[in-house]
Amino acid sequence: TPPEQIRNFCIIAHIDHGKSTLADRMLQITGVVQPRQMRAQYLDRMDIERERGITIKSQAVRMPWQVLDETVALNMIDTPGHVDFTYEVSRSLAACEGAVLLVDAAQGIEAQTLANLYLAMENDLTIIPVLNKIDLPSAQPEKYAEELAGLIGCEPSDVLKVSGKTGEGVEELLDEIVTQLPAPEGDPDAPARAMIFDSVYDTYRGVVTYVRVVDGNLTPREKIAMMSTKATHELLEIGVISPEPIPSEGLGVGEVGYLITGVKDVRQSKVGDTVTAASAPATRAIGGYKDPKPMVFSGLYPIDGSDYPDLRDALDKLKLNDASLVYEPETSAALGFGFRVGFLGLLHLEICRERLEREFALDLIATQPNVVYDVTMDDGSEIVVTNPSEFPYGKVAEVREPVVKATILVPSEFIGAVMELCQGKRGQMGGMDYLSEDRVELRYTLPLAEIVFDFFDQLKSRTRGYASLDYQDAGDQAADLVKVDILLQGEGVDAFSAIVHKDKAYAYGTMMAGKLKELIPRQQFEVPIQAAIGSRVIARETIRAIRKDVLAKCYGGDISRKRKLIEKQKEGKKRMKNIGSVEVPQEAFIAALSSD
Ligand code: GDP
Ligand code: MG
Repeated sequence: TPPEQIRNFCIIAHIDHGKSTLADRMLQITGVVQPRQMRAQYLDRMDIERERGITIKSQAVRMPWQVLDETVALNMIDTPGHVDFTYEVSRSLAACEGAVLLVDAAQGIEAQTLANLYLAMENDLTIIPVLNKIDLPSAQPEKYAEELAGLIGCEPSDVLKVSGKTGEGVEELLDEIVTQLPAPEGDPDAPARAMIFDSVYDTYRGVVTYVRVVDGNLTPREKIAMMSTKATHELLEIGVISPEPIPSEGLGVGEVGYLITGVKDVRQSKVGDTVTAASAPATRAIGGYKDPKPMVFSGLYPIDGSDYPDLRDALDKLKLNDASLVYEPETSAALGFGFRVGFLGLLHLEICRERLEREFALDLIATQPNVVYDVTMDDGSEIVVTNPSEFPYGKVAEVREPVVKATILVPSEFIGAVMELCQGKRGQMGGMDYLSEDRVELRYTLPLAEIVFDFFDQLKSRTRGYASLDYQDAGDQAADLVKVDILLQGEGVDAFSAIVHKDKAYAYGTMMAGKLKELIPRQQFEVPIQAAIGSRVIARETIRAIRKDVLAKCYGGDISRKRKLIEKQKEGKKRMKNIGSVEVPQEAFIAALSSD
């Protein structure tokens, strides 16, 4: 297809504003999916695909669309759509010339609407503003058209109004995509260059790589090279997705499609990398390629220690699918053998943990997630701390922590509540704007560590669910941070060490000591639980010794009950961990780490 007859676009929206529904309607209206298939089979099959971790529709679908007497190929490119994956989102956007900015006509602009819009603007995309769900009785299209027009600087009448549910306005939207978006530009005679904007692992076909061709063309069976790694592969198959993968005789300038090389490891196919022809390689990569950087670390341990080799296997397999995952073995006195795993963010952590548990049948315990700290010592040396246990004692000149720029959108009645929350989380206000008379955008710089814990839940509960949040990496900042250790009878329990702000050290120490006091059974002797910064104890609790008569009870009763007790104790013994001379059931550690 010549570039003049191609339009590449994506749909960007806040979650639940109707992106998937609108995409489905477009597939149906362009005839790519038949109406009957749509309801009865298509979506069902999609569920299975999703369960297996691959999506056919979502990456890049090609849809024919007739305007006047010309048929145009529309490529709809999906974006991952969450802050943890901002880099991937920006690569998807870089593969397009334009974006449909979708806003729920009953909700108005939300935090991810803004975040996605800014990313699209950074990529110089043409923006088509659209209000969705106009069929809803609660829709206020006039009000929100004005809000949206104000945001992007157009007339309210330029805002299209559609319903992804009923299909109203969708044909007009497709027409507008063709007329408003520029056709892709590139040099057909230059050495081939294609940008990878996504890659997924398919059990049957290996890695499927999604590309947008910028210059030249790629043909089946030729040798291709990845510009960041110089690795070469044979192109086994190349084609477009419409909505099934359809092999083709090649992809030229502006075209979007997939390629398969038989490689089994997604690390060979990095998002943002440039694919070129091995025989006549391009000299310059498309640019923007960046290795994903883990932001949040957590220790993952099997609840049953004998599952450790299975956990290692599972991580290796997951890595095939998710190149951003990093991990290395770690041991903990409290939890045994496990791994320190780096994630792009908390959502990524949750997804990975759930996949490990579901797909590999593992029961896992995760330690409190922590961010990465840069520590400068008095002698000028630098230490990167990904695990609180690596935090150095004494002689620390400066500790820096990652910070983010957060955007929070709320109805104006909640401004006070949000400001109070952000201040409590060590936020610095960057600015505030009214989007309309009753909705406000607040901008804060916040430590990532404060966002990582329960920030979002607190934000939601303080604003009765009305606030939305988005944030972006904003480098790092020096802060007054200390390591709090938790000691049982003078012995440190590594899994509970935490790096916290000085003002919060006492609260963390008393909270953790109190929790452990509840959870650790009494011993034959008194056990002090202390929280300490270095050698300075900041909080203390005591587990009192078992009294004689409590012990005596175990030896009374009838014989079968006694046997049961002994069995139970044996069972219990297997799961005991010794911290110094204190026996702690592993359940106690798990409970202390899991609750809130
Ligand atoms: P996404 O998160 O942006 O992909 O949103 P979805 O497409 O999954 O839609 C979120 C919810 O809104 C679903 O319950 C949809 O059925 C509903 N929805 C989407 N589009 C419309 C629409 O045009 N009208 C109405 N009434 N509901 C819609
Ligand atoms: Mg969706």
